[in-house]
Amino acid sequence: MIFESLAEKLQKTLGKLKGKGKLSEKDVNNAMREVKLALLEADVNFKVVKKFINNVKERAVGHEVMESLTPGQQVIKIVNEELTKLMGETQSKIEFASSPPTIIMLCGLQGAGKTTTSGKLAGLFKKNGKTPLLVACDIYRPAAIKQLQVVGSSIGIPVFSMGDKQNPVNIAKAAIEYGKKNGNDVIIIDTAGRLHIDEDLMNELENIKDEVKPHEILLVVDAMTGQDAVTVAETFDNRLGIDGVILTKLDGDARGGAALSIRAVTQKPIKFVCMGEKLEQIEPFHPDRMASRILGMGDVLSLIEKAQASLDAKKAIELEKKLRNQQFTFEDFLEQLQQMKNLGPLDQILEMIPGMGSKQLKNLKVDEKELVKIEAIIQSMTKEERQNPSIIDGSRRKRIAKGSGTSIQDVNRLLKQFKETKKMIKKMGEMEKAMKKGKFKI
Ligand code: GDP
Repeated sequence: MIFESLAEKLQKTLGKLKGKGKLSEKDVNNAMREVKLALLEADVNFKVVKKFINNVKERAVGHEVMESLTPGQQVIKIVNEELTKLMGETQSKIEFASSPPTIIMLCGLQGAGKTTTSGKLAGLFKKNGKTPLLVACDIYRPAAIKQLQVVGSSIGIPVFSMGDKQNPVNIAKAAIEYGKKNGNDVIIIDTAGRLHIDEDLMNELENIKDEVKPHEILLVVDAMTGQDAVTVAETFDNRLGIDGVILTKLDGDARGGAALSIRAVTQKPIKFVCMGEKLEQIEPFHPDRMASRILGMGDVLSLIEKAQASLDAKKAIELEKKLRNQQFTFEDFLEQLQQMKNLGPLDQILEMIPGMGSKQLKNLKVDEKELVKIEAIIQSMTKEERQNPSIIDGSRRKRIAKGSGTSIQDVNRLLKQFKETKKMIKKMGEMEKAMKKGKFKI
């Protein structure tokens, strides 16, 4: 889970306040001491923590909390609002140029995820109707050009490259000419990184900046490096003047220090976050939604957006019809499983659901392997069996178990679950009909 250890501690501390009918100043102070510790342990910049705690305390011991009916919840609301403020309040979008192409320069240290993120961004823009061009300006890291080409071809986006013998400034210039001729409205330049910040790197980036005048300079930083990421952001900003940050590897960041400090320290917004190596694992950054996720309040809006982007609306309507008419088969079930996979890892989806705090998620132990098993069982069924499971007798069960590498018990369990689900859907359908006729009232 993203920011797992921070989320767990904050939720535990604030959970203690929730049930209290009245809060004393001492209660608030005690809770804030624990919140402070949790933030420091999460590697949040200490100045940021100090200011944050003061802001919360100032508001929490005032009248708005002490005299309200649910003081604990008021404190949680304040923490949520202050966390949101810390991360920049509102979403900070990419400013597309009024006369295209919009030129975006990606920079950062080696290994931060620049090349991967260039592809992710291009893919996201393409989904939104743009025609991006990727530009390979990292001529030093072995295989960086090839990597970008592989990424580009996997999502159908052209990659401009002139090999590794040309000066990156010339490559960038030529790429823009090429992009203009070919109608590319967004040009994403993947620049070189180094293991550490050095003069040569900064000079090269400055030269590219001066020559191509990018509309946006985005710094890619690895969230798992915590305060180092904040220092990198400060340094790049001082030299280059960045417009925003893309935080990568949030999927492996249990602490959240970088995400919570970067904006407050550099005054530059986080524009996107990446949560995995796959090309679709990028999201626009919404401070309010992230604060809610950290506090276990879910993120329904992102979930809906993800679903809209990944699921097929027409198929969803068809499915609903089938469910109503009792025609739901294992084939539909299989399709559902596959669509669900498009949404991303199950634990990342679940934590967007309100009430799915870190504790609940741990208890739930989402077992993706179980889903793989179910998929294998359905795939081992014949078409006829999928449509009419009642024909699956003992010998067929044996064959399916063997074919899917599972046990007969696994097959039996799935068949039983499926039957019960169908029964339940039928009951719900009958209830709905009765309600419509006015025969059934709640
Ligand atoms: P570059 O040197 O900055 O261009 O970095 P790369 O794009 O080559 O990425 C370095 C490594 O980080 C690769 O193995 C990527 O697959 C991985 N990576 C990039 N973004 C993410 C992310 O959001 N989550 C995870 N888990 N890995 C990532």
